[in-house]
Amino acid sequence: MLDVFKSTGALLDGHFRLTSGRHSNTYFQCAKVLQHPEHLSRVCSVIAGHFSGKGIETVISPAIGGIVVGTEVGRQLGVKTIFAERKEGKMTIRRGFTLEPGEHVLVIEDVITTGGSVAEVIELIRESGASLVGVGSVVDRSNGKVRLAEDQFSVLTMEVVSYTPEDCPLCREGVPIDSPGSRHTNRN
Ligand SMILES: [Zn+2]
Repeated sequence: MLDVFKSTGALLDGHFRLTSGRHSNTYFQCAKVLQHPEHLSRVCSVIAGHFSGKGIETVISPAIGGIVVGTEVGRQLGVKTIFAERKEGKMTIRRGFTLEPGEHVLVIEDVITTGGSVAEVIELIRESGASLVGVGSVVDRSNGKVRLAEDQFSVLTMEVVSYTPEDCPLCREGVPIDSPGSRHTNRN
């Protein structure tokens, strides 16, 4: 699976300026792998396989990043798939989507870094009286530190190390820096 991420350029090793301004030896852009239907299908089959047989009735994802993965996982599980989105900064369920009390819900995200959006979706599930079955993602960049559900599954788990420009060892070594985020409109 790691090879798929590397061969599609989703995961790069080098010296990068992240959109946060920090420097890192790793650049990760999930969309680069998910744009290929065969990879999308394969990555999502790992997630769907983990949650198969666990009584899931609905998949929900935070927009925008989670929608593609959520839709494919939901399709493979054969269940209703919806998404939540931010309106004036607050995560909400719109477009006529609903969650019913007791409904068994799986949250799917592309990349978990701090888990903020997923935590907000979990709060919506609680408010509706539905039941959280688990959280699935393509990549956990927190290396397992962010815990959102008892049943939490990621295809890839990695530690993303970043530095302030002043403390960056790659800068000290004089390694040329790349700013992939500035060339692409996608987040990193
Ligand atoms: Zn640097």
